[in-house]
Amino acid sequence: MNILILGSGGREHSLAWAIKQNPKCDRLICAPGNAGMAEIAECAQIDINDGAAVATFAEENAVSFVVIGPEAPLAAGVGDALRGAGIPVFGPSAAAARLEASKAFTKEICDACGAPTAAYARFTEAAPAKAYIRAQGAPIVVKADGLAAGKGVIVAMDEATALAAIDDMFGGEFGDAGAEVVIEEFMEGEEASFFILCDGENVLPVGTAQDHKRVGEGDTGPNTGGMGAYSPAPVMTDAVTQRALDEIVKPTVAEMARRGTPYQGVLYAGFMIKDGQPRLVEYNVRFGDPECQALMMRLGAQVLDILLACANGQLDQAQVNWADDHAMTVVMAAKGYPGGYEKGSVISGLDALPEDSMNMVFHAGTKEVDGQITANGGRVLNVTARGASLQEARDRAYAMCDAINWPDGFLRRDIGWRAL
Ligand code: ATP
Repeated sequence: MNILILGSGGREHSLAWAIKQNPKCDRLICAPGNAGMAEIAECAQIDINDGAAVATFAEENAVSFVVIGPEAPLAAGVGDALRGAGIPVFGPSAAAARLEASKAFTKEICDACGAPTAAYARFTEAAPAKAYIRAQGAPIVVKADGLAAGKGVIVAMDEATALAAIDDMFGGEFGDAGAEVVIEEFMEGEEASFFILCDGENVLPVGTAQDHKRVGEGDTGPNTGGMGAYSPAPVMTDAVTQRALDEIVKPTVAEMARRGTPYQGVLYAGFMIKDGQPRLVEYNVRFGDPECQALMMRLGAQVLDILLACANGQLDQAQVNWADDHAMTVVMAAKGYPGGYEKGSVISGLDALPEDSMNMVFHAGTKEVDGQITANGGRVLNVTARGASLQEARDRAYAMCDAINWPDGFLRRDIGWRAL
């Protein structure tokens, strides 16, 4: 079959890598793709947020399955346009993608289905929001309702920071995303992510992970898109995982179906776990990046089968064959990221690295120029390895990092510290 993957990050490269290994995949097209994806697939330049354009491209190229990587095309309804054209697609409808696109909507769903989450209130004006903050006291969490690229959440350890966040959000710092604000109870605990395929009715867990959002070692400094991740997450024990499924995930999926907006795709649930009790922090409607890279390394070629089962409403017949393994991704980023950084520096040493079921370098912001791989973004490479233990996966990943020659890049040396 001909398969189209939308996106250009390390997440999509790892999806492409896993899907390509499955004998059902005849032709693989990535749009827009990156230099790493270009080595294993055709890359096409189409506007991936334009549902009509994507559907037309898919029809013209006899594509029989589309995998949507990032959230923007999902929120823009690209999944709906493809389903409308009769093309099977992995990824939720725009209506179901509100689980990520609106924090207030997610809270509403939690209320309706009884899923444990932080206590909260919603506001569309500054004065009552500030009064609520003063009444609750700090620490407290202030969130812009809409998509703000991970920047619309202020975890305020003091009242002044929370009040300033209200001024920023209603002052337009996040545009329309900040027109409504959710103020939440501060939850203590350890965070972990859980990835669950949903076909509208049935669910299939596809792994747990933890990531490192801060740019600096020891989890310090500004937030990034993620500097590394590992799977599984030790804090997601069997008991916690079962509670998360029974108390949060399955009730959410049932509530979405009850509302006539069944959820189909991967549900990425972020939890805060304390004393064995998971509480929902957030939902995302796509795989995490870089968590996806670690998951794909562990899942391999079977990914295509389970994504197809998900798109076709057949997850009740699907299963995951797990090796009892671990995987880790270390992100190599351009110096200066997440602030300003230069593009165009040359990366060498990649050709000599192993590329197999245990070791892979997934590309994110890369571009091939005159036969050389160059940096073309903030997060540039995702060095990923598997092992029988997390330590083994980590040793392999860092050994690969050390063999890459990129003076203009940097990485964190402590990915996985909490688990190890
Ligand atoms: P991202 O894309 O980075 O995941 P987001 O904009 O979707 O961010 P959230 O995941 O809701 O936002 O929040 C970002 C981070 O803020 C969480 O990963 C968590 O560390 C922290 N956080 C959010 N809500 C709470 C809360 N109620 N209590 C404690 N910490 C919180």
